[in-house]
Amino acid sequence: MRQPRSALGSLCRSAAIVAVMSAATAWSASAPPKEMAPGVWFLEGDAHAGYCNSIVIEMDRYLILVDPSYPGRTRELMEEIPRLSRKPVRYVFDTHAHGDHAYGNSLWTKAGATTLAYVGVRDEMQRYEPLRWQTAMTRRDDVRSVGENNVEPPKMVFRGHRFVLHDPTRTVEFLYLGWGHTRGDGWVWLPKERILCTGDAAVNGPRNKLWDANIANWPKVIDRAAALHPATILPGHGDAGGREILLGQATFLRDLYAAVQREVQDGVSVELARVEVKLPSTDANWIPKDMAQDIGIVYSEIQAGKPAGALPHVWQ
Ligand SMILES: [Zn+2]
Repeated sequence: MRQPRSALGSLCRSAAIVAVMSAATAWSASAPPKEMAPGVWFLEGDAHAGYCNSIVIEMDRYLILVDPSYPGRTRELMEEIPRLSRKPVRYVFDTHAHGDHAYGNSLWTKAGATTLAYVGVRDEMQRYEPLRWQTAMTRRDDVRSVGENNVEPPKMVFRGHRFVLHDPTRTVEFLYLGWGHTRGDGWVWLPKERILCTGDAAVNGPRNKLWDANIANWPKVIDRAAALHPATILPGHGDAGGREILLGQATFLRDLYAAVQREVQDGVSVELARVEVKLPSTDANWIPKDMAQDIGIVYSEIQAGKPAGALPHVWQ
């Protein structure tokens, strides 16, 4: 039996609605933005897609984006951010060189923004790229889709410990506090709002990788950040929170380092250390399901007497 005209029309409409819904769900796995203070939004990336968190800071005439993440996430952010504010994104800050934070760079440059980072981010990219980008191309459609063979380094870098953007709306400080998670770790500090964006120098959960780190120094770097007395922590991965994220991340790193150091001093092999090292339950939020990789990296750092990131290593 032939469908009446009106029923066909409504079928077409419902097909269109389904198409719109699936397009929406394709990107809405990332959490909706949370406004942490007037004009400061925390955009939690979809962890299953490998995305980091991003932050949007509204200035008088423009926006600052902290961490563009992977190209797939950058494309989501390019749709999401205009719903928060019609002002243009002028600066895109890379907290560090890792792909899940910085691989969206070139898309923002093409959109007219200036990518910005501590000089150590550019140095890390020179050190490790294009190998990591090209490895990511074999695994990720979004990296391949950019059509480039290397990450685009930040167009603007700062040296020293601080770079400040200031206008009638607010002050934003970009800080370098030392080598922790990577040699390029940059922090974003809003002194009036007491909001601190940490990148992966402090994350909320068992989400950190230690390959490029200086594990002995890292907790001291976090101590410097804690001395700012932030009220709100916006981490590179996991939920937003307070100072407990800094304290927890630093304590986990100290406990891990001390436990592995005891093994090294006792002449225990790395294989046995991987079995023996246990951390207190107070570190649970930061302990990965399989701690073998972390233990191995810390073991190498202690044995070599050099930061793990300064030893030959391949990102895994
Ligand atoms: Zn990282």
